[in-house]
Amino acid sequence: MSRLSELASIVGHQHVVSGEELYSRPQDFWNSTPTVALGLVKPGNVEEVSAILALCDRHAQPVVIEGGRTNLVHATQATGETVLMSLERMNAILSLDTDDMTAEVEAGVILETLQAAVQQKGLRFGLDLGARGSATIGGVLATNAGGFQALRYGVARDQVLGLECVLANGKVLSHLVPYVKDNTGYDLKQLFIGSEGTLGAITRAMLRLHPSPQSVNTALLAFENFGAVVGALNTMKRALRGELSSFEIMWREFYDFNVGALCPHAPPLPTGHPFYVLCETEGFDSEADEAQFEAVMADLLENGGAADIVLAQSSRQRSDFWRIREEFGPEMDLFKVMVDFDVSLPISKMDTFVQETEALLAREVPENLGLHVIGHLGDGNLHIATGLPTPERKLDVQRLIYGLVRRHGGSISAEHGVGLAKKDFLNHSRTPEEIATMRAIKAALDPRNILNPGKIL
Ligand SMILES: Cc1cc2nc3c(=O)[nH]c(=O)nc-3n(C[C@H](O)[C@H](O)[C@H](O)COP(=O)(O)OP(=O)(O)OC[C@H]3O[C@@H](n4cnc5c(N)ncnc54)[C@H](O)[C@@H]3O)c2cc1C
Repeated sequence: MSRLSELASIVGHQHVVSGEELYSRPQDFWNSTPTVALGLVKPGNVEEVSAILALCDRHAQPVVIEGGRTNLVHATQATGETVLMSLERMNAILSLDTDDMTAEVEAGVILETLQAAVQQKGLRFGLDLGARGSATIGGVLATNAGGFQALRYGVARDQVLGLECVLANGKVLSHLVPYVKDNTGYDLKQLFIGSEGTLGAITRAMLRLHPSPQSVNTALLAFENFGAVVGALNTMKRALRGELSSFEIMWREFYDFNVGALCPHAPPLPTGHPFYVLCETEGFDSEADEAQFEAVMADLLENGGAADIVLAQSSRQRSDFWRIREEFGPEMDLFKVMVDFDVSLPISKMDTFVQETEALLAREVPENLGLHVIGHLGDGNLHIATGLPTPERKLDVQRLIYGLVRRHGGSISAEHGVGLAKKDFLNHSRTPEEIATMRAIKAALDPRNILNPGKIL
């Protein structure tokens, strides 16, 4: 029996895709080249996932697990010999418990679907990112995604109470507890969160929820120097009673470009300031929250170094502010061959790092098409993008910028993971001993190296 027939005998013929149908499907969110793989299999439950992996393990058959394929590091890239396993059929929200404030979900649930379902119950899932309409819970956990609200709720890892996973050999590890405290030996779920499909398939999760905020206050601020930005962040952390949920920075070149491309009329704040910040609070007392937010903003304007501030007066205006921060379409056109980075750095070193990056690119790669810097500043996370007219010097740019990240003690991947795109630079952020330990864990859990082989390590 061929491999595809064996897989079909587990899930049914209608749930195996191959040949022309698979080839006509784009590889992932960014890459419209055709999907090349032996076949794509879509299990409908954990027993089928287990049977598929046990079969593949017996035959040393490489498997790439897929969620929404929105990752930014080529983590779901396959070869002609690979079996793709998509969990898209496993998309049930199994329970929403308003007393325990938990959601038990299958891994294929789309992030936005969960956000909406939880909202209807007066609750909030503490994770949000631009790919919310396609990314799955399995994918955001497997990449330990961060996003716009990590400052308040933490990263994907912090949303998980319990997990069900299937090992490479088909064995199911299930520990779907609905409570926070659980010191019963090793915390196995943490191995799978952030492992990018290399250690096991996440099939189900018990997620923690939060009360849904009743008020949202949003402002866009301009600053003349980076010290004033950091001062404002610390003021807001202190003065806003833990309600600060986002503190997103945009360097001038990005803000000026994006408002030019997106705002046909006057931008919310004039262009030309060195730094812009989009900040947001979420609270539970509309009147008091608004009054407090306005008082803090007024104080920042008078005493705290903010050069200009505009408060969102409506949900429409709030969306317009966020669009300036979130929209990348015009940037992708501008940068032709885009070279982008997702790095963590101590906040205190960020401005120096960006100035050094600018100088280095001007000196070593003068043909670069500019430098756009934005980030989740409150989390110490910057996103940097530059462009090249042609692809030949892409690796040079990566070497230069990752070299600088290493010198500043930063992380080469803050929230997007490693995949294929960053694995050659893993040693910039992790020691040889750490990498050897990762290899030992991989060998123990996946001795035949069938799960997403060649990714991360
Ligand atoms: C427009 C846009 C904005 C984004 N913004 C952010 C952001 O703000 N913050 C951020 O952190 N990331 C962001 N991302 C990238 C982010 O990593 C992904 O959006 C998301 O986390 C991946 O989910 P996915 O379901 O698409 O996973 P996929 O891309 O399908 O897979 C990602 C990795 O997880 C593995 N995987 C998937 N499902 C499972 C499973 N069930 N079990 C085991 N392994 C699995 C895959 O093998 C792969 O290695 C953004 C991406 C886009 C396109």
